[in-house]
Amino acid sequence: MKLKADYHIHSVYSKNMHGKSSIEEIVEKAIELGLEEIAITDHGPAHYLYGIKRSKIKEAKEVVLQLNKKYTNIKILFGVEANILDYKGTTDIDRDILEYCDIILCGFHLCALYSTMGDFWNFIVKNNFAKLHSKLYNEMVEKNTEAIINAMNRYNIDILTHPGDKIPVDIDKIAAAAEKTNTILEINDSHGHLNKDDIRTASKYNVKFVINSDAHIKDNIGSYNNGLKAAMDAGLDLKRIINLA
Ligand SMILES: [Zn+2]
Ligand SMILES: [Zn+2]
Repeated sequence: MKLKADYHIHSVYSKNMHGKSSIEEIVEKAIELGLEEIAITDHGPAHYLYGIKRSKIKEAKEVVLQLNKKYTNIKILFGVEANILDYKGTTDIDRDILEYCDIILCGFHLCALYSTMGDFWNFIVKNNFAKLHSKLYNEMVEKNTEAIINAMNRYNIDILTHPGDKIPVDIDKIAAAAEKTNTILEINDSHGHLNKDDIRTASKYNVKFVINSDAHIKDNIGSYNNGLKAAMDAGLDLKRIINLA
């Protein structure tokens, strides 16, 4: 059992040195590991700490195109990890960005420029209060889940990243929506989500899974042991994980 692709990698195109390695360093490491395919997926521009600058997207895509020519034994995809910005499911990907993307990842992140103060209040403040109040917790799970499902319905998302990380969600409903929208659910090797229980819940639906490293430095590319363990503990048929060989 080995990993043949890693579809979630951050590069130096993330702001504030969030990603430590250049795209070429990532490619060289991926080849060394024997990966057949990788995706460079920095945070979308609305992540105010680490998002890729809009003005850099074209340049990053150019680098990927050049490296695809230089290294013929690996396929390099360019994409972004979009941010969910409100409860209607708006994200920070638009036509200008989509034009450059081979793959779209999307996830919920804490440091995003949410659409309104109300969204900030709900996503950050109320979700924080909800940790202490079970009634509010259930209400927030419902709202958070709705936000993610709305995003899945509105955009052509290839991979939903680390569902259940950062804010609580209803994995059952998210997996049902993923089945309808053909969205692959990520078992994130760094963040611990989907976790074993989430995978078991999601596996009742006709969905596919992917184990991604979410590497921010080249040495972590292709990490998959935590994700594989969670999948095995959940009793998942490993054939449903698209990037295992
Ligand atoms: Zn993420
Ligand atoms: Zn990420």
